[in-house]
Amino acid sequence: MAKQGFVWSYSTIDAWRRCPRMFFETTISKRYKRDFVKTPAIERGEKIHGMINRHIELGDALPPALRRVTDIVRKLSTGARVIQTERKLAVTRDWRPTGFFDHDVWGRAVADATFVYETGAVYVDWKTGSWKQDGLQLRLTALVLFPHLSEAVERIRAFYWYTTDDEPSEVEIVTRDDFAKARTDGVPEILRIEDAIRKGDFPPKPGFQCRWCPVKSCPHNGKE
Ligand code: SF4
Repeated sequence: MAKQGFVWSYSTIDAWRRCPRMFFETTISKRYKRDFVKTPAIERGEKIHGMINRHIELGDALPPALRRVTDIVRKLSTGARVIQTERKLAVTRDWRPTGFFDHDVWGRAVADATFVYETGAVYVDWKTGSWKQDGLQLRLTALVLFPHLSEAVERIRAFYWYTTDDEPSEVEIVTRDDFAKARTDGVPEILRIEDAIRKGDFPPKPGFQCRWCPVKSCPHNGKE
């Protein structure tokens, strides 16, 4: 079994893909801490997310620059039984719902906006600037969302949606069958990390990220 205590999220999986050694040192051994620098672009994104959340939850008007979001929310809200923002979702190892910080948490995701209908649901990840598109994030969030929904929900459509666009920039569709398969067979990216943890196999993967990597003991640090 993988070492207890490993809690996956898209960002931990992404750290492993960038460099297994950096992942180990910042997520498993925790000898180093990843620096989080709040850039002006991140601050702007947080402000826009806050405005969208208040628009969805309280009906606050959005500024003209976000008029497309007003239209998108109106459209997605039609027929929705449950609408939520910033939904913090967590599952146990057997994909049962649990609390975000509960002792049995195994996987986590945060959904910017969810719209739940009778037999389907939509999850939107709002995008406010240049961003690496990664369908894995959409798929993982939809998988973690599934056990939190009624069993009548058969399909989740997950969107990356730029707040300036009329259409989503990426769409992933995850069905209840996909969820059942993940539950029985596992998710390849998570299985690979758990295998690496079992074997203690975390090779360095030198690259651009070595410039800002916090793992000062690595011979590649600051050299790429
Ligand atoms: S310095 Fe580079 S190779 Fe070394 S742990 Fe950091 S990212 Fe990986």
